[in-house]
Amino acid sequence: MYEPVWRHPKSLDEAVAAIGDAGESGKLIAGGTDLAVLIHKGVSRPDVLVDLSLAREHAGVTVAEGRIELSALATHAEIAAHPLVRERVGLLALACAAVGSAQTRSRGTVGGNVANASPAADSVTALAALDADVHIQSVHGRRIIPLAGFCKGPGLTTLAGDELITGISFDLPGSDAGSYYRKVGQRNALAIAIVSVGATFDPEAGTVRLAFGSVAPTVVRARAAEELFESEWASSKDRPALVGAVARLAVEAVSPIDDVRATAEYRTMLVETLAASSLEEMCLRD
Ligand SMILES: Cc1cc2nc3c(=O)[nH]c(=O)nc-3n(C[C@H](O)[C@H](O)[C@H](O)COP(=O)(O)OP(=O)(O)OC[C@H]3O[C@@H](n4cnc5c(N)ncnc54)[C@H](O)[C@@H]3O)c2cc1C
Repeated sequence: MYEPVWRHPKSLDEAVAAIGDAGESGKLIAGGTDLAVLIHKGVSRPDVLVDLSLAREHAGVTVAEGRIELSALATHAEIAAHPLVRERVGLLALACAAVGSAQTRSRGTVGGNVANASPAADSVTALAALDADVHIQSVHGRRIIPLAGFCKGPGLTTLAGDELITGISFDLPGSDAGSYYRKVGQRNALAIAIVSVGATFDPEAGTVRLAFGSVAPTVVRARAAEELFESEWASSKDRPALVGAVARLAVEAVSPIDDVRATAEYRTMLVETLAASSLEEMCLRD
């Protein structure tokens, strides 16, 4: 019978100390919506479980000096309902609202979604388009690193065994900025994405960010497409044609596979279609 040792730290500092003590045999557990499934299946059997649910002293969404910080323990439901997120960071509110069921959203945390490193993770696709940073702490200190590059493959990150994600931050988009999130699944509710897109448009800078989920081992950004947009947008005499060219180029960033949910060919087609829809809605609508 599996009987792990439980630790219930009451602050993030205590949690950092607990996971530092536990070493390789320990695992953090926040909402448990991913980890409990793996434990139940016998895929993961950590000796020590460090429960983060009582370490919520900085939980939620805060804004300071033009940046939004999401506590790692902010749930998808909290983020999706947050008034400023809904008003200014619509893609993130939509992405968090697209996670699983109401039960999953009220337990599952954004820190867990990022640490779990699924290429289909909804919040990660939105956060990638926001150029988010990941805030990390261990007994050795703190570091802040870009989300881009943090996920290395399905379930793989650059996080060391004794490190904890404390938060995720990004610049608050301007009030005139555009954003878009769309997830295509096999059904509308409780579906893992076949393809998802998170996109932002900064009209003042003439820049877009395009991130795609479920089309590569990690969430990917279509950087060449973004660069084409930035170099041509301000001077373009045919913006609808430019949008089409950018959407076609976005396909080069992805490397989808056939799986139980869809074929690679269908996913590739969806990437172009979703890129075009996002750009048309954000950039061409008056
Ligand atoms: C029925 C169901 C439907 C789902 N549907 C979706 C969906 O549509 N879209 C989607 O994106 N996800 C979905 N998920 C996955 C899941 O809900 C999310 O990934 C969730 O955000 C994970 O957060 P958690 O707090 O539950 O993580 P946990 O399960 O507690 O932990 C997950 C992993 O992250 C680590 N971890 C947790 N917190 C931290 C931290 N602060 N620092 C470092 N490591 C940490 C844990 O050690 C573990 O390895 C679904 C899950 C279920 C069960």
